[in-house]
Amino acid sequence: MTRQISELQAKDLQHVWHPCSQMKDYEQFPPIVIKRGEGVWLYDERDNRYLDAVSSWWVNLFGHANPRISKALSEQAFTLEHTIFANFTHEPAVKLAEKLVELTPVNLNKVFFADNGSSAIEVALKMSFQYHMQSGKKSKTRFLALTDAYHGETLGALSVGGVDLYNEVYQPLLLDTVRAQGPDCFRCPFNDRPESCQVQCIRYVEEQLVNHHNDIAAVIIEPLIQAAAGMKMYPPGYLKRLRELCTVYDVHLIADEIAVGFGRTGTLFACEQADISPDFMCLSKGLTGGYLPLSAVLTTDKVYEAFYDDYGTMKAFLHSHSYTGNTLACRVALEVLAIFEEEDYLAIIRSKGERMRKLALEAFSALHSVGEYRQTGLVGAIELVKNRDTKEPLPGEERIGYQIYKRALAKGLLIRPLGNILYFMPPYIISDEEMEFMITTTKETIEQFFKEWEG
Ligand SMILES: *Cc1c(COP(=O)(O)O)cnc(C)c1O
Repeated sequence: MTRQISELQAKDLQHVWHPCSQMKDYEQFPPIVIKRGEGVWLYDERDNRYLDAVSSWWVNLFGHANPRISKALSEQAFTLEHTIFANFTHEPAVKLAEKLVELTPVNLNKVFFADNGSSAIEVALKMSFQYHMQSGKKSKTRFLALTDAYHGETLGALSVGGVDLYNEVYQPLLLDTVRAQGPDCFRCPFNDRPESCQVQCIRYVEEQLVNHHNDIAAVIIEPLIQAAAGMKMYPPGYLKRLRELCTVYDVHLIADEIAVGFGRTGTLFACEQADISPDFMCLSKGLTGGYLPLSAVLTTDKVYEAFYDDYGTMKAFLHSHSYTGNTLACRVALEVLAIFEEEDYLAIIRSKGERMRKLALEAFSALHSVGEYRQTGLVGAIELVKNRDTKEPLPGEERIGYQIYKRALAKGLLIRPLGNILYFMPPYIISDEEMEFMITTTKETIEQFFKEWEG
């Protein structure tokens, strides 16, 4: 991949600081300049193309430069692009709120808009806390979250996150979160077979709730998949038990569906698979199909009413963002939801999911470096290990996932790994041939890499 760098690449290196990157890596591997996108493909300035198997960080649902969404966006831009949202409103926001209430689990009747996932988490945490303050439960000042949780990068969101890679250096700045060991199905401490799983691991949360419920405002969780931790998947029964515990201990349940919402797990929302309704649901990423930053926090009438009073009681939720309820983003989200319904994408996701599972199991089961292939809906993950039998992890410092990522890019496939876990989270419009290319190229890249690495 080391070619002459282009003018844009040189200027980028001069001025731009990229997210989630050690910028020194870019000396060896400068940023790829993308000129255009079409469907699952991204085209660079030299017209090489890359299959976007990670949906550009999990946001894209219906392909890049989707004609229908682009048209809706363009028309809206010539009508109204944005307006202040305090004491003002507009049709796209009203219709979107109505639609989200209709689609999400029962009891979630109120919608608060923000403009990215982390902000949605901040909103939910602040609302939950303030609810308890205004309901005479002043000791409930902490949150409970799981190990390996990821909820975003702002300080409140980081505080509930449990991935050391992102948290450690900021520890002195973070909230004092109650932490419970989360589910770990690949290395299950109870040696459960998935078929007979009794979700015994819920006991870790239960213990913390028994001990600390008087201090806890809310439990926050990523339903079904702890995504950033490496697509760690767990069964719906865990959520069901968690909902029961939250009710018993008078603690809110915040469902962070930012990564898994909008069909990713095979149902519109992951919570549906456990048949639960949380007290707060945070949505973002797929909400605009990868077009614009937007997020929404849904909550119950009960929460809303604890804030609803005469101004002088100072019970209002005074949180705001400049781009709250952005008109363009709301219009795009409406179009995304319309596509979803009109084209019955849940059925498409399920059938593509089955196909992906079949292809992936065929491709990866025999590879000795693959500890497990797991999948939920249209999220598939390959856990690379040093030893298949003992499940011993690969040494992190070798950055094997990153090396495989670079090699796959040279073959026209974008699979940005999480440590030594490779995953597929393709746009829902991926075709059969594209899916085959994705799986086959991944398999070849893994094989070639380990041949050289071990050889
Ligand atoms: C991405 C993500 C967030 C943060 O969203 P941003 O828009 O990146 O701030 C929060 N929670 C989960 C589960 C996510 O995957």
